[in-house]
Formats: sequence, structure tokens, C-alpha cells
Amino acid sequence: MLVAGNWKMHTDRAEAIALARAIVASLGDPSPIRVAVCPPFVNLEAVRQVLEGSPIALGAQNMHHEEAGAYTGEVSAAMLRAVGCRYVILGHSERRQYFGETDALVNQKVKRALQHGLVPIVCVGETLAERQAGQAEAVVERQLQGVLDGVELPSAEALVIAYEPVWAIGTGHTATPDEAQKMHALIRQLLIARYGDAIGRALHILYGGSVKPDNAAALFAQPDVDGGLIGGASLKAADFTAIVQAAR
Ligand code: PGA
Repeated sequence: MLVAGNWKMHTDRAEAIALARAIVASLGDPSPIRVAVCPPFVNLEAVRQVLEGSPIALGAQNMHHEEAGAYTGEVSAAMLRAVGCRYVILGHSERRQYFGETDALVNQKVKRALQHGLVPIVCVGETLAERQAGQAEAVVERQLQGVLDGVELPSAEALVIAYEPVWAIGTGHTATPDEAQKMHALIRQLLIARYGDAIGRALHILYGGSVKPDNAAALFAQPDVDGGLIGGASLKAADFTAIVQAAR
């Protein structure tokens, strides 16, 4: 099980330090659950210092797909590694919606991240209109095949998938445990077909979208839900800690 906090464009430096400290203090030793927090780029270094010696891993929310170069305003995989990141969220629906990221671009980012030993948390998920049109499965399958095209995995630890239905993100409308499980089972089948039984079954598939302390346990109890990607509720140490406890 893995529970990752996506802080999005929240927290200034002091707030990020305070939040990380509160999470470290209230979480104690979360094992066997793996925990990560993904602050904004500019707070990665400060949060890394707070997390040092704790079992909580550091992640970023995005990166550029090229190795280095004249890409003003961008951050590379090597830079994220150097600042202590283990994870990087890629293809989040907000990146797709507001910054025009396509499956093909996310695919390049995934390959670059893997080259640098970063573990991509790759997001897929349908919009409300797509779900209402009965296309949710087809959309998620197309996204998954697109982002994983030509991606080879040395192990099941190298990559994480997050199913985040767009209609559930930040809306308070979470998928029911049954809806989540149905989509996770489909993703599992696609991963097994692509990577074989051992890796396909062991890959973590996270659910994201309005996960809160009161709905986390039922979602995490589903056989193919291996944890969560938490937005709003990851900004309060008590809520985030309660969600991690629900994963036990
Ligand atoms: P939310 O966000 O928990 O606030 O719905 C989840 C996400 O966007 O990763």
C-alpha cells in the first residue's frame, strides 16, 4: 500500500515545513504502508530536510521530458533526483486540462523519469461527460496504453498508476468503492497483459479523487486498490495521517 499527498499549488515555504513536520510527528512509523508527500518544486529542498531520517518519501508533481536544455521555467528529472525525490506525479488531469499534456507527452516523461530512477505516479481517469457517455473504460484504456507505450519496467516497484476520475477530483464526489474496484480491475488486466503476471499483479494502482478519512478505508479494502493519491485532505496532517491509518 502507498499513500501519497499531492499538495498541488499550496503551501509557501513556512507552511510546507510546518505541514511536513506535523505529518512526520503524527505519523510515526507508518510501516508497512509507504507514504510520500509531493510539495511544490520550490519547497522540495525544505521538505526534504524535514523528512530526513523519517520513512516518508519525497515526490514532485511534474517534470520536463527532456534531459536538459533551453526550456525556461522547467525542471528536469535529474534535478528532482538531486533534491531527493523518489516519486514524480505525471499526467495529472490538471496538467492535461490546463497545460495541454497529452498521452504522448506523458509517455516521454515516464521514460525519462525511469531513466533517472524516479518512480512515476502516472495518472489516468475519465471526465464526467465521458463516464455519462459510457466511455469511461475506453478512455482509461486508451490513456493507459498511450502513457505506457514502449515503457519497460525492471520491476513492479519502478512505476505506480493512479486512477483519478476527473469528476471526483476536488469535488467531494468520490467514486464508490465498487466503481473504483471495477476500473482498477480493468487496469490490472491491462497491466498483466503488458507486463506479465508477476509484475502486473504487484504494481501499485492508487485511487485518487476526494479521498477523505471517512471514505478511505472502504476504498482501500478493494482488492485492486493499493492506496491513494490524496489532494485536499493531504494538506491537513490529521486527515492525511488518518488516511494512512486507513490503509493499514
Ligand atoms: P483531491 O485531489 O483529493 O483533492 O480530490 C486528488 C488529486 O488531484 O490528486
